[in-house]
Amino acid sequence: MSAGPTPRPGVRDTEPYVSPQLDVAARLNTNECPHRLPERFFKELAHAIEDLPLNRYPDGRMTRLREELAAHAGHTLEGTWVANGSNEILLQLLQAYGGSGRSAAVFEPTYLLHYRLCWLTQTDLVSLRLDEAFSLSQASIDAAVAAGPNVVFVCSPNNPTGNAQPLDAVASLAGATDALVIVDEAYVEFGGATCLPLASEHSNVAIVRTFSKAFASAGARIGYLLAEPSVVGDLQRVRLPYHVSAITQAAGIAALHHAHEALDILASIRTERDRIFAALRHIPDVTVYPSDANFVLFVPPKPAADVWQGLLDRGVLVRDLSAVVPNALRVTAGATHEVDLFLDALKEVLAS
Ligand code: PMP
Repeated sequence: MSAGPTPRPGVRDTEPYVSPQLDVAARLNTNECPHRLPERFFKELAHAIEDLPLNRYPDGRMTRLREELAAHAGHTLEGTWVANGSNEILLQLLQAYGGSGRSAAVFEPTYLLHYRLCWLTQTDLVSLRLDEAFSLSQASIDAAVAAGPNVVFVCSPNNPTGNAQPLDAVASLAGATDALVIVDEAYVEFGGATCLPLASEHSNVAIVRTFSKAFASAGARIGYLLAEPSVVGDLQRVRLPYHVSAITQAAGIAALHHAHEALDILASIRTERDRIFAALRHIPDVTVYPSDANFVLFVPPKPAADVWQGLLDRGVLVRDLSAVVPNALRVTAGATHEVDLFLDALKEVLAS
């Protein structure tokens, strides 16, 4: 029997990217919104789907969704682009601006998928560091510029540390390099300044956002880009034909019609985030980091893997990020009862 076909080098050395999806009382590991959009959204979507000519390919230019999104974001139609989750936007950006013989810089610690997308697109990785407060220092900016990459990733608010980067730091980076500066703003609705104004001043700034967090639509898989029209033109050259289905486009349009309802929930999520931060600050020997996002990073005084398991045994699933920040766990700001469960379980685990 043959051993089967051989994938390209490195594929078998790489683990699939998975986050556990366990049926537990509090799923606080993937930074989703804990609340569903209102029934009116689902009714509108159901009606829209009934009328779709699904025998035809969808609108490949996604015109209506892009028009409504551009109006929502306050950006040009020509500079607005959509894909299946912001991860796919990031992939398309690397397909167009990265690739073999080219490089992308990341400021660590940051979102693991940025590294993975570099590997996937055979883009060389330039690893730089944020400072001790996880901020983008002038020294890291200078190092990024000196390395001469084709792409630079900035994640603001940063996953998993939670803090947003100052606008002037990103502006200074964008002004000092010709590289495409990708600002991953997956969590921007929860706090921090948006770098969108920079996209009209600098032709190399690309803002990437998602419907998965503040829009309570992670299941719909919708992400978007706000940039110069030329960047959108380049993504049109690398995207797969009809990459966003008619159903997804309808879901995006309906979600935008209910944006104010989704955004109304934000205040309660920020309250839960701040409650987690305040509670963890009072637990002896726990280090907790301030967050502008919908999650909180903390370092417990016991091995992170044991604390993770102890929480899971009590029905609370968080994310072990010790591979990114030593011994750190990340907890999503969920609904009030979920946060209560988490805080009670953590106190028990740390006391045991
Ligand atoms: N960027 C960051 C920083 C994230 O944390 C996530 C989600 N974990 C994403 C992008 C991707 O989100 P999605 O593909 O669901 O839009």
